[in-house]
Amino acid sequence: MALFKNILVTGGSGFIGSSLRKIKPNWKYLSSKECDLTDKNAFYEYLCDVKPDAIIHLAARVGGIKDSINNQGEFLYLNNLININVIHQAYRANVKRVLSALSTCCFQDKSNSYPLNEENILSGTPTDSNLAYGYAKRMLFLQSKYYSENYKLTYNTFTPSNIYGPHNSFDLENSHFISSMIRKFYEAKEGEKITFWGTGKPLRQSLYVDDLAEIIVLLLEKHLTNLPIIVAPNENISIKDHIKFLQRRVNKNNDIFFDNSIDGQFRKDGSNKELISLIGDYNFTPLEEGLYKTYDWYSKECKKLKLNN
Ligand code: NAP
Repeated sequence: MALFKNILVTGGSGFIGSSLRKIKPNWKYLSSKECDLTDKNAFYEYLCDVKPDAIIHLAARVGGIKDSINNQGEFLYLNNLININVIHQAYRANVKRVLSALSTCCFQDKSNSYPLNEENILSGTPTDSNLAYGYAKRMLFLQSKYYSENYKLTYNTFTPSNIYGPHNSFDLENSHFISSMIRKFYEAKEGEKITFWGTGKPLRQSLYVDDLAEIIVLLLEKHLTNLPIIVAPNENISIKDHIKFLQRRVNKNNDIFFDNSIDGQFRKDGSNKELISLIGDYNFTPLEEGLYKTYDWYSKECKKLKLNN
């Protein structure tokens, strides 16, 4: 029997929210148009009206690395404000369960030992390019932990790695690297050179969005402690290899260049041991398959758009 019946998802109109909606269409999905989470009174009234017994908190100011570097103040302000309001107003409205999304951007820039684990969530300092976002997520972890301890609630968190898949943002300036890589390959003409930002050397555990949605459903009921459970596949693969996998699958003959002037965090891989001990073995979508599915989805969307214009 399901523990929770009336479940509210903040960030319901976003990338991960859209994937959750496919498997849990009866849950309530909140967008910023229905309620601005920076407005604490509006959210409290909304909760009194909807009366959820659990909240999955996904809403955030999210963006790719350039966006994050250029807008650290906005990332800090909006994410802290949204998180403080969501957790505190949920407490005021007597909601007993809140499961919130952190990010592996919380993790320190460099460590002597990998993979990182849940105990490392507050160790060291997040990488410069994600400092504001990383610290706001660390505050969300702390607020969830203290509210649970002080008020006997189950407010806790999970820490997903890099997520990709259909319905992500494909904006070249603001998107994450996989979306921008897919768009560049899709738009490149045969033989045209494609330039990628960074050295291509950093390693990433890329997680297919539909895998994350399934795992969130399991965590809502099974995750009862304060551990910020890491949700990441086993594969930890260089950006250069992501590019090779996709190029091979889409069979495009383009020369690849790297703009080495700036680079992302070299590695931030986390262990999924705690996750697997909670939910059991999980068959993560292999990277090459997930990249191809996403490319296929994106090309169909572009063709639909062209037809409609
Ligand atoms: P997204 O596609 O950018 O969606 C963000 C969501 O937050 C949207 O539904 C947006 O609503 C909502 N939102 C933003 N500001 C709001 C406000 N003031 N009031 C109400 N709603 C607001 O984000 P995502 O990629 O799905 O990420 C979901 C969560 O996972 C975030 O907490 C993020 O930090 C975490 N995460 C993401 C990744 C990743 O690779 N994407 C990796 C690790 C962790 P509107 O669209 O209606 O404005």
